[in-house]
Amino acid sequence: MGEPLIERAAADLVKSKYAIALTGAGISTESGIPDFRGPNGIWTRNPEAEMAAYQTYDKFLRDPKEYWQAVSSGISFYSILRQAEPNSGHHALAELEKLGILKCVITQNIDGLHRKAGSRRVLEYHGAVNRLRCPSCSSRFEFEEYELDNMDEPLLPLCKKCQNPLKLDVVHFNEPIPSDVAHQSLEETWKCDLMLICGTSAVVYPFAQLPRIARQREAEQEKKAKSGLYFVKEVAAAAIVEINAEPTPLTRDGISDYIIQGKTGDILPQVVEMVKQLLDR
Ligand code: NAD
Repeated sequence: MGEPLIERAAADLVKSKYAIALTGAGISTESGIPDFRGPNGIWTRNPEAEMAAYQTYDKFLRDPKEYWQAVSSGISFYSILRQAEPNSGHHALAELEKLGILKCVITQNIDGLHRKAGSRRVLEYHGAVNRLRCPSCSSRFEFEEYELDNMDEPLLPLCKKCQNPLKLDVVHFNEPIPSDVAHQSLEETWKCDLMLICGTSAVVYPFAQLPRIARQREAEQEKKAKSGLYFVKEVAAAAIVEINAEPTPLTRDGISDYIIQGKTGDILPQVVEMVKQLLDR
């Protein structure tokens, strides 16, 4: 059943003029990083960890030192992310970009693996664990600049530009998406004619809104036009292809045209091989 759909996805990609990929924790499980909500996900097995995660951003606002204490005590998860290596799914997307087909990857993942695999246009919607960000002046710094892994006791890293407390460049629950990445992701969503959605349960908003916008953008544009805020032009809905171990709300709500069910590390390389064959013809 997978094979005709793999051929279909490859043909759709070759036909597309501006394909983008959206990725989630599922594409990194084959790099040894557990997802949150899959059958073996961290939160599926430990719902209390999910409750704790809802408090992290409040902690930073209340007392940045307390935040760094919590982040440091959970440093093992962040260290796993920093030390992980990309798998065949990440490499396949990097290759699709080199072939000139994929124009951008928008990822929810904070593990930095798309860049490590060689993808160049990557929007990290929820940030990345290998950077720090200043919520006051929006400056970003490489993690290594602060040597936080070597802390004997939790310190409070301060911004080198404005001296305010830094946090990880990771979007915690209740924290707004940084405006630069939110804006660029929306632009890519409006521009694409194919969206390849890999390994996300598509339940975390506002990220999960992006496929819905791509699918329903004609309607979206009409709505915005009534408020007088947006310029209206006719744009057809994008083709939406999912690759996931299991169906998602996008499958069930008819947002995606079809789903290729299975592991991204198996399926994406096959799609790329098929794309190459089609390009050679
Ligand atoms: P999720 O955990 O909610 O969903 C993962 C989805 O991927 C599930 O539908 C699961 O069935 C599927 N999946 C698992 N392994 C797969 C594989 N090998 N191939 C194909 N599909 C597979 O993840 P999400 O939708 O990305 O949302 C979770 C949030 O948690 C994100 O915001 C993300 O920032 C964060 N997170 C990131 C990482 C990471 O950076 N690697 C890891 C865990 C969670």
